[in-house]
Amino acid sequence: AKENGRNQFHFFAKSMQQQVNRRVELEHKLRNAIKNQELNLFYQPIVDTQSASLYGVEALMRWQLSDGSFISPEEFIPVAEESGLINEMGEWLIKQACSDIQLLNSNCDCQCMLSVNVSSQQYRLGFNAEILSTILNDTQFNANLLNLEITESILLDNDQAVMNWLQDLRATGAQLAIDDFGTGYSSLSYLRRFPINTIKIDRSFISDLTASEDSAVLVKAIVSMADSLNLKVIAEGVENNIQLKSLNDLGGQYVQGYFYAKPLPIDALQTWVNEHICR
Ligand code: C2E
Ligand code: CA
Ligand code: CA
Ligand code: CA
Repeated sequence: AKENGRNQFHFFAKSMQQQVNRRVELEHKLRNAIKNQELNLFYQPIVDTQSASLYGVEALMRWQLSDGSFISPEEFIPVAEESGLINEMGEWLIKQACSDIQLLNSNCDCQCMLSVNVSSQQYRLGFNAEILSTILNDTQFNANLLNLEITESILLDNDQAVMNWLQDLRATGAQLAIDDFGTGYSSLSYLRRFPINTIKIDRSFISDLTASEDSAVLVKAIVSMADSLNLKVIAEGVENNIQLKSLNDLGGQYVQGYFYAKPLPIDALQTWVNEHICR
């Protein structure tokens, strides 16, 4: 038994060591990818289903290796957050996305919204309204079309510093959205306290929508709560017509998902926009 325990220990220690190695290696590769400009942006359309028009796009980071394969953001964003690299990556992203979508909007004379993810780690590392204002100025992007997506976790400790940070960001003209809504926490009081404009319902609820009565009840409750708080609701991860239909039946108006489009490189997005109505 003793011998067995020792083997198990060696097994765990080895696999932990392998995980650590993979992290360290990934961080090293990520630094090089930033230096060599191997990071890229894709944009996923968000559709207003009531008017069947393009409401906006979400910018999503992509890391393509020289062999053509992609490393998933689910893998490299956590590494970027832990290493602090997310700070410069995030600033680069907003700059690039504002300039891309500013051009798209002027090309097609439309008012497409731009959503970007802002990690809570960026708050800790100093991203703020002043930096954002400079970017908006440099890119000539209309601040009212910018949507900053944050996660619930940052709102939980009801911190005055977080409140100030968010209010300053809002004062630039940008809007705030809660990402992955419904997955994290149960306290909803922050929706009234903090200057939030939009809720994004997490994909897990949408994929369950047709199979689970509970998900439908939840989505319905979220939509009606958002309605009375004057918040927009965007449903993520709508993949088929059946999900779209049940979502619409529950009052969901804004939709992001493969059913309409996958995240696209900027050229493909421009083509997509040319073939659709935009706001
Ligand atoms: P997210 O912010 O919730 O982004 C939505 C994710 O859902 C994207 O995955 C998108 O491709 C995927 N998605 C959209 N519609 C569908 C659908 O119909 N079906 C399925 N199966 N998936 C769909 P992606 O691009 O792999 O990003 C994963 C996560 O990584 C994001 O989740 C976000 O948390 C993070 N992330 C991506 N880019 C950035 C970034 O630039 N900054 C930060 N901080 N996080 C990012
Ligand atoms: Ca997001
Ligand atoms: Ca999300
Ligand atoms: Ca998500």
